[in-house]
Amino acid sequence: MPFESGLRCGEIIDNSRLCAIFGCGPQGGMRRSLSSNTLVLVSNHVESIYDDRWIDGVLHYTGMGKTGDQSLTFMQNKTLKESSENNVEVFLFEVFSEKEYTFIGRVCLVDVPYQEQQPDELEETRTVWIFPLGLVQGQPFAPNQALLGKLAARKEKFAETLSEDDLRRRAEAAHSRTGGRVVTSVARERDPWVSAYVKRLANGRCDLCDQAAPFETKNGLPYLEAHHVEWLARDGLDVIENCVALCPNCHRKMHVLDTKPDRRKLQAVILRRLDSRGGATPGESRGTASFNRDGRRIPAIENAN
Ligand SMILES: [Zn+2]
Ligand SMILES: [Zn+2]
Repeated sequence: MPFESGLRCGEIIDNSRLCAIFGCGPQGGMRRSLSSNTLVLVSNHVESIYDDRWIDGVLHYTGMGKTGDQSLTFMQNKTLKESSENNVEVFLFEVFSEKEYTFIGRVCLVDVPYQEQQPDELEETRTVWIFPLGLVQGQPFAPNQALLGKLAARKEKFAETLSEDDLRRRAEAAHSRTGGRVVTSVARERDPWVSAYVKRLANGRCDLCDQAAPFETKNGLPYLEAHHVEWLARDGLDVIENCVALCPNCHRKMHVLDTKPDRRKLQAVILRRLDSRGGATPGESRGTASFNRDGRRIPAIENAN
């Protein structure tokens, strides 16, 4: 008999109620309950070191193991991998603000797990397993745009504490996660590491007019805005090869005029930056054009329009 949680999608409960309903332990992102024969997954966007993300209705969920390479035979990674055969029902919660568990619904594997690189707890790059999960029924929960903005701001703050190398590794990993989730507003979800990294590289100066940032933030950092040369709204990629840091005037100018000379200048800035750093991902840069992991071409100077 299927497990009945009595929860509806979007309902927010606390951790003790979650444990009481499912009969699982109070900790971790993957909690096995023998009494209800369920596996409860918690995608914690506030505290977790993992970069879980939704792409076209599928949650790409990172497995267990906080340091070193993750293993598919390790504890609940194994349970989740075998969930289509072992009769364990899988339920998903997301955490968008501290101690608030938003019930998303019952999920199942919709594709084979795959591997990617993510930083571990000690900021060491390691291999993790990603489980593509889809809802068994219904639509993915659409969180409030303001809430996602708050989460991005939190990550940007954390980004300020990272070294340039650590920040670059996180920003480069965005190659494998272009996409977005439906939010209750029009804007797309952006990768906070990409925007933080291009701002760091700009070193306080606008990539278009070369002038110093007009003011400092409350944290004493030069105020610049991340801009995508190929707009996200026009299917541009949210990766460092398509992103620059602009002063507010130039940013507005790009969205109002978007002239060819300005685009060329920004693309040249990006190329120069990649050249001086030996490309975004070694081996993936071919000539002056780059390709992401899906083989999609990333805008470079000669395919400018
Ligand atoms: Zn400017
Ligand atoms: Zn922009």
